[in-house]
Amino acid sequence: MDLSYSPEEQAFREEVRAFLRDELPKDLSDKVRSGAELGKADIEQWHAILNGRGWLAANWPKEYGGAEWNAVQRHIFEEEAAQANAPRIVPFGLSMLAPVLMKFGNQAQKDYYLPRILNGDDWWCQGYSEPGAGSDLASLKTRAVREGDHYIVNGQKTWTTLGQHANMIFCLVRTNPDVKQQEGISFLLIDMDTPGIEVRPIILLDGTPEVNEVFFDNVKVPAENLVGEENKGWTYAKYLLTHERTNIAGVGFSRAGLDALKRIAKVEMSGGRPLIEDPHFAARIAKVEIDLMAMSTTNLRIISQAAAGQAPGVESSMLKVKGTIIRQEINDLTRRAVGPYALPFPSEVLAGNNDPVGPDYAGPTAADYFNNRKLSIFGGSNEIQRGIIAKVKMGG
Ligand SMILES: Cc1cc2nc3c(=O)[nH]c(=O)nc-3n(C[C@H](O)[C@H](O)[C@H](O)COP(=O)(O)OP(=O)(O)OC[C@H]3O[C@@H](n4cnc5c(N)ncnc54)[C@H](O)[C@@H]3O)c2cc1C
Repeated sequence: MDLSYSPEEQAFREEVRAFLRDELPKDLSDKVRSGAELGKADIEQWHAILNGRGWLAANWPKEYGGAEWNAVQRHIFEEEAAQANAPRIVPFGLSMLAPVLMKFGNQAQKDYYLPRILNGDDWWCQGYSEPGAGSDLASLKTRAVREGDHYIVNGQKTWTTLGQHANMIFCLVRTNPDVKQQEGISFLLIDMDTPGIEVRPIILLDGTPEVNEVFFDNVKVPAENLVGEENKGWTYAKYLLTHERTNIAGVGFSRAGLDALKRIAKVEMSGGRPLIEDPHFAARIAKVEIDLMAMSTTNLRIISQAAAGQAPGVESSMLKVKGTIIRQEINDLTRRAVGPYALPFPSEVLAGNNDPVGPDYAGPTAADYFNNRKLSIFGGSNEIQRGIIAKVKMGG
């Protein structure tokens, strides 16, 4: 196991840095830095720039127009993009659905959908969770009944991230209610403009409509939109989740967040001295920094194993738990560092409507703190990950 970067990897880092310096539009990085809400057009613009360089689909094979980066290259890009305040790449089409289509889709589906994901013709969202099916996903109830060359879909999905922008949704639906739960699920691709679909926003703690409820009322879906075989959707769903959980540690985001926190703690004053010299505050920063260094090493160890062809196992659960705790702690300390200036109502800040009463960097701190409570819930909650770790490592 080698945790140091090779000369080629260091050269790649320089290439990424130069690209970000030259190609990342300032108005986009300013928005990310200040915590302003990114609209659909902002994200599409960044995707198009990356696609122009051949770097949008980092994990795709070259034959489909991907960059075919290995785990180390993806990690380097993630770190540099976070430091440069680049917008996040929206994963639903690119790193969730696409691997499923490549492995289980038919040729017509690959030929039609994959280029559309790259070109930004389709914006996908993920229709897995339901009001009664989150951690226990296999209990989902949204029903699809085959009628001739169509399925008729009825039910409800929830927590659908950015569903308000999406024109397509990939859904897990129940096609057979009379067998073991996992054996009656299918994977359907649904056009969001089909009659009978209604999208309703859910307002999160930070005041943003980032997630939605999606209702299906007798929605007619062509049978050719089934991926793979009927009732085999659970296999495809699990395959997708392994891709959802890659890069889950968020080391790049934490490092960028920690750097920002230190900058703030150097200028914010407490008891007549910079906050960073306050022993209690400094100790909390030091603790989270040590945790981050330890997690970065674990992350590199796992990346190094992945580069050597070993699939990450329970380690990705460890990274999920630790990574989200660290990001939430950094958010908490940043919010505390700015004190009452974190108070403006986050949605006002995000909409750019408030008159800042404190320093610019204080604006997004409460919004980030509230928004990132989600990190320990989605992608498999931290409690579920702890259960997996206990079961695998301790036989619990
Ligand atoms: C901001 C956000 C965005 C999301 N985006 C999407 C999306 O785009 N598409 C999508 O399909 N889903 C999405 N989700 C849903 C997400 O995957 C679920 O919220 C998650 O799986 C947890 O399910 P749940 O909310 O139903 O909670 P529940 O499963 O009801 O869990 C409630 C609590 O009980 C705990 N718990 C449950 N079972 C166990 C157990 N066996 N052992 C120990 N503790 C347990 C959980 O950890 C949690 O704390 C999103 C969620 C959030 C918060």
